[in-house]
Amino acid sequence: MRNLFWVAAAALAFFSPAAAAAPSVAALAARYDALTATGASAQVRGERIESGHMAAVLTDGWRVPVRAGDVVVGFFFTGKGSFEYRAADPIELPAVEFNVRKATSLNPEKGDRFLTLKDSFTELLVLTTSPDPVAADSGGAPLDGAFKAHREWFARIQESPPSHPFILQRLDAPAASVLRLEISGGQETYVYLHDSIDGDGERLDVIRKTKYSLADDEVKKRLWRTTLSSQSARDRRDLKPARFVVTDIAYTLRASDGRDAALSVAETIVPLGRPRSVFDFGLTNTHWDVTGTGFVRLRSERLRSVKAEDGTSLPFHHDHGSLLVGLPAPAAAEKAFKLIFEIEGDFLVRPQGDNFWLLEGNWLPLPERTGRSFTMHATVRVAKPFIPFAPGVTKSRRVDGDENVLETEIADPVDFPVVLAGNYRYQEETRDGITVRVASYAMSRPNAFKKLTNLAFSVIRYYEGFLGPFPVRELNIIEINDYGWGQAPPGTLFITQEAFNPIMGEANQLFSGGVNHRFAHEIAHQYWGTVVKSPGPEEQWLEESFAEYCAALFIRDARGKGDYEMLVARWRSRAKTANDVAPIALANRIDMPNDRAMEDEYRTGLLYGKGPYLLSVLHREVGEETFLTFLKSYQKTFRWKFGTTKHVAGLLAFLTKKDYMPFFEANYWGMGLPR
Ligand SMILES: [Zn+2]
Repeated sequence: MRNLFWVAAAALAFFSPAAAAAPSVAALAARYDALTATGASAQVRGERIESGHMAAVLTDGWRVPVRAGDVVVGFFFTGKGSFEYRAADPIELPAVEFNVRKATSLNPEKGDRFLTLKDSFTELLVLTTSPDPVAADSGGAPLDGAFKAHREWFARIQESPPSHPFILQRLDAPAASVLRLEISGGQETYVYLHDSIDGDGERLDVIRKTKYSLADDEVKKRLWRTTLSSQSARDRRDLKPARFVVTDIAYTLRASDGRDAALSVAETIVPLGRPRSVFDFGLTNTHWDVTGTGFVRLRSERLRSVKAEDGTSLPFHHDHGSLLVGLPAPAAAEKAFKLIFEIEGDFLVRPQGDNFWLLEGNWLPLPERTGRSFTMHATVRVAKPFIPFAPGVTKSRRVDGDENVLETEIADPVDFPVVLAGNYRYQEETRDGITVRVASYAMSRPNAFKKLTNLAFSVIRYYEGFLGPFPVRELNIIEINDYGWGQAPPGTLFITQEAFNPIMGEANQLFSGGVNHRFAHEIAHQYWGTVVKSPGPEEQWLEESFAEYCAALFIRDARGKGDYEMLVARWRSRAKTANDVAPIALANRIDMPNDRAMEDEYRTGLLYGKGPYLLSVLHREVGEETFLTFLKSYQKTFRWKFGTTKHVAGLLAFLTKKDYMPFFEANYWGMGLPR
């Protein structure tokens, strides 16, 4: 970053002896939480801030240095200013333009393969790792009041704490740079972030008011981000390497009969690429308990301690769903060590007051996606009469005093931990070494047990014919007391009640091909999701589109070619609806704050329409035998690994001796739609 200036005295503090000893993660976070901008302001005219694709001009106004503790970390400006941001990555341009139109009042300027976003501002907070000094001329009024109001407003944004990249840089990547701009007073309010920790990347977000129409006052105060642009030096088509990988998780969960639970978690961590001393995780702070009337009770998950294997307490900062843990000295690259987390809270949420709870998402400390590749050992102790379910091979299911206890083990690397307990009845059956366990909510449903067990086995046997051996030895099929969705973590299939109810099942033909199709889609996720993993939101089609396509093959061979043709026609029409919005790779970037229904239509149109449609086109082109060989080889090559679309193109080229990159350039990263 260039051309940043402020008073010499303030900059000197940066090099003072007091700042020389490295403070802890927790101490640094506390300083950033209590930033100060005191003293007289200095006049500034016509200065520029340039960073990556962002250029801001402080036309005319006043600024004061901002300090974290004694250290100057930036400045706060009030006055007249403006900025220009250029989005120049051709893959993201359609999504940038769409989100700007749907989520802002801006009018983007179109250039030759770029878009320029412009706005003015009256307030700017600059936080940076590289403050440059200039001569002082501070005769202006203090800006304390404006700074306080600015900080309060920006603190309402639901995002990872702004301090975290600065802490990572300071303690773990001193050669890297970080710049954060908080921009307000123009047509919109923005956060711009540019950092070079483990690769150069920048992001421009617009900040907007509440996303949910809920009655809760605390929730209403929250502000949300819409990402307008995200550009980096990295090629989007390549796998983004993680900073570290979690290779094993062993946890004990103790669940009361109410809301309270305690978790003890041991994670095995392997730093990647270089020695590392700060580790960043996602870990939920607040679970939402939404009642039927729209009121929200916020429940907390509190991290009590983080320890090294020898019992040493480690400093950490846990806020807004993000966790940083600091080590006293860097841990060697490629060498495993353990962290022990103690967690407690009232985070057992019973949806709409039902008699079950489900933990998913970042209920355990989890790294970024490509760092999730762990075996698991679960011990779940639940107050009776709730029955617990966790994925993996059952090691023990027993009663211990007032508790139902379950121990499971997953011996292959997975990325998506879940646990559920509730008022359930279940039956299980083992055929040829695979156990299918069907659990119904609140009452026993012998007919459903039988029907769903048979259906599951027939889908599994069908997939084994061209995708290889079923990846898990036990599959839990669990009824969720709701309608219209399914979800498939490792060894698990959550499916809503219409699958269990024969009458509802008939009425449910609306859902793409009915319950059987959805069931087949969810079971396919054990291959596409659990075995071959998506490395991030830009490759989600590897899970959703591939599962959807395999489910359609099941329908084709179970019910007939006509049903398959109908699905292809439906995919194509859904693809047409969504095709002008964004490429499939950016389906998850689509953000329409004022029309969530259309947002969902476009996103699913790409992932569940255009994605499987592209697979049907490839299938038709290469023929049945080559296409099934392609699916099988992909499963075999990327078994328990992260796949990419680039690898998909590479494998197709290998099998057909034809270059498939142009097809994916045009139709996956581009806006093409083949006939
Ligand atoms: Zn799915």
